[in-house]
Amino acid sequence: MKTNDIQNSYKYLFGPVVSRRYGLSLGVDLAVPKTCSFNCLFCQIGETAQTTITRQSQPPIAEILNELTVWLKSGAATDYITLAGSGEPTLHKNFGEVLTFIRDHSAFKSLLLSNGSLFSLADVRQQALAADVVKLSLHSWDQASFQAVTRANPALKFETIIQGYQQFREIFQGRIDLEVFMVPGLNDRVEQMEKIAAIARTFAPDSLYLNSASRPPADSCVTQATPELMDRISAIFGTLIQVPAPPAAARVQAFSPTAVLRLVSRHPASLKQLAQQFNLPQERIMAALQKLEQQQLIQLTEQGGELFALPIVTKNVQTQE
Ligand code: SF4
Repeated sequence: MKTNDIQNSYKYLFGPVVSRRYGLSLGVDLAVPKTCSFNCLFCQIGETAQTTITRQSQPPIAEILNELTVWLKSGAATDYITLAGSGEPTLHKNFGEVLTFIRDHSAFKSLLLSNGSLFSLADVRQQALAADVVKLSLHSWDQASFQAVTRANPALKFETIIQGYQQFREIFQGRIDLEVFMVPGLNDRVEQMEKIAAIARTFAPDSLYLNSASRPPADSCVTQATPELMDRISAIFGTLIQVPAPPAAARVQAFSPTAVLRLVSRHPASLKQLAQQFNLPQERIMAALQKLEQQQLIQLTEQGGELFALPIVTKNVQTQE
């Protein structure tokens, strides 16, 4: 089978994508279609149709491990194999089996990208122990600010989540990265970020990065923080702040329209990023994007003078416990 045929046959793997912080990252999607406990204002995948905290057994872990086995046998390389994609990976009841498989059958590091909402559960903390790196999130300082930014499932309690982070820190030997997403007007005041920094210190993440809307968010009222504001807020977190590693641009993914579609549906990207990802001229990528848009498989939108490719998502927001 040719490399492109193999890549096009994957249902749960995507990439490797060039990530700003983690170099090359092969994505494993445990939450297709988008399944999440949050409906963040800034979500780049689009709105969550129904937030949920019900953990499920789909997709079947055996199918995911089969795909990983095929990918590993292909001889491809990456920096991380990452549990990420269309939603929250810890909503899968057995996400830890994928982490254990990566540890036992590959030479690559594993990365769990989680919104942290279920770290109050002992089983989630236990399964996450098999990861090399766990990325958690903290964008707020109390229940009201938590609800405003994440529009979380109503059953989720901010304090319980933070207690879960503290308990996880006590037992986890690997690296915890913390993402703080700045939403101007909601959590960007100095005194608000000082409260977030004080909470972060209680569970001692190994590094922290400040994020702000660089791609079109779920709610178009979310604006990008200015560089001046980013600098001012970064100072609050001091040495915890991580400088992004340069992307490993030399190792690129084989191009096909299906590869573009699989990538964009989990990882919205700009035309420029896609050209870098596939190491092709922007005109060639643009032609594929226009075809995918005509087929109503993606949507194209402009922000800040850049063209972005986004997944098609539903706009009806409901909650489910
Ligand atoms: S940003 Fe992450 S946690 Fe928030 S809604 Fe999107 S997928 Fe869920």
